[in-house]
Amino acid sequence: RCADYGFIGLGLMGQHMAKHIYNSLKPLDKLYVYDVVPQSTKLFVESVTSENPSSKSQLVALSSVSDFVSKVDSQLDFIVTMVPEGKHVKGVVEELVLAYKANPSSAKTTFLDSSTIDIPTSIEVHEFVKKSLPSFDFIDTPVSGGVAGARKASLSFMLSRKTHEDVSPELTTLLNMMGKNIFPCGENHGSGLAAKLSNNYLLAVTNLAVADSFQLAKAFNLNLQQYAKLVAVSTGKAWASVDNCPIPGVYSKENNLPADDGYKGGFITKLTKKDLVLATDCARGADRMLFLGEISRKWYLKACEREDLASRDLAVLFEWLGDLEQK
Ligand code: NAD
Repeated sequence: RCADYGFIGLGLMGQHMAKHIYNSLKPLDKLYVYDVVPQSTKLFVESVTSENPSSKSQLVALSSVSDFVSKVDSQLDFIVTMVPEGKHVKGVVEELVLAYKANPSSAKTTFLDSSTIDIPTSIEVHEFVKKSLPSFDFIDTPVSGGVAGARKASLSFMLSRKTHEDVSPELTTLLNMMGKNIFPCGENHGSGLAAKLSNNYLLAVTNLAVADSFQLAKAFNLNLQQYAKLVAVSTGKAWASVDNCPIPGVYSKENNLPADDGYKGGFITKLTKKDLVLATDCARGADRMLFLGEISRKWYLKACEREDLASRDLAVLFEWLGDLEQK
């Protein structure tokens, strides 16, 4: 049977994810897209249809959230949101629910939220959907892999589901269009986000420790390239010390490490800070103090006061710590 999809939020991540859905459409499937910035919707449609005109008639640009209910051929199976924060997810889903309530039908739609947001808001939205439209669902499906993973359709999805058997074949098909891995993280709503925030907390803290460790090696007058190679095969090995090594010139240019390009691109410090703040806030709410998280949070907030650090890859913290005055 054919499937109809909706995608809301065509930013750095969403434009690639929606493009992969478009490129995977079967002949009778349809994809409806929308971004609050009309130019983003327009550019998205122009770009994907010029690259692949064969499914052009199956892609529809919408100009409001309620259009996902009133301007579609048949009720959508899935609507994915990829927007910045909890307040945006809440606003969009509340608008969708209102529109569906005004146009009742026996069909059901599943809302998938792949944004990284706070767990309490996600639970609130889930409860609102289940109360307003009991046959509908709202699942947190945050992603890991960054813009590069979104571009290559190699994202990992973290889901509030107990096992793979609890993920429907239709949902699996959709997620496999955009990613490579599906991780069921637990049956309670918010489990996907809990896994995402726990992982990104670890990234934020290790990144800071890696920056400190390399500055220590520098203070001891070690050759940093050699030290980086040693860490890569020693117990200090971590994503932040190897795959995203902050020392320029350690690995060949084909690895495209931000350190070799002035720390441009990559996973920017501002987003790392956003996820760390979400993780520490959610931990406080769950009576689980993140001891290192609380300290690291202060450092990330301080770094993000400078736009040149906030908008560059998180490995730039190595350089920043080196420039800070020692007391
Ligand atoms: P982005 O700011 O580039 O894109 C967000 C898009 O949502 C923008 O185009 C914006 O116009 C649109 N938008 C905002 N409010 C909207 C609304 N009410 N209705 C419709 N569209 C709306 O952000 P991004 O980097 O694509 O990230 C999106 C989400 O994914 C965030 O929660 C982020 O934390 C998370 N995330 C980002 C990355 C990354 O590497 N960029 C990786 C994993 C997860």
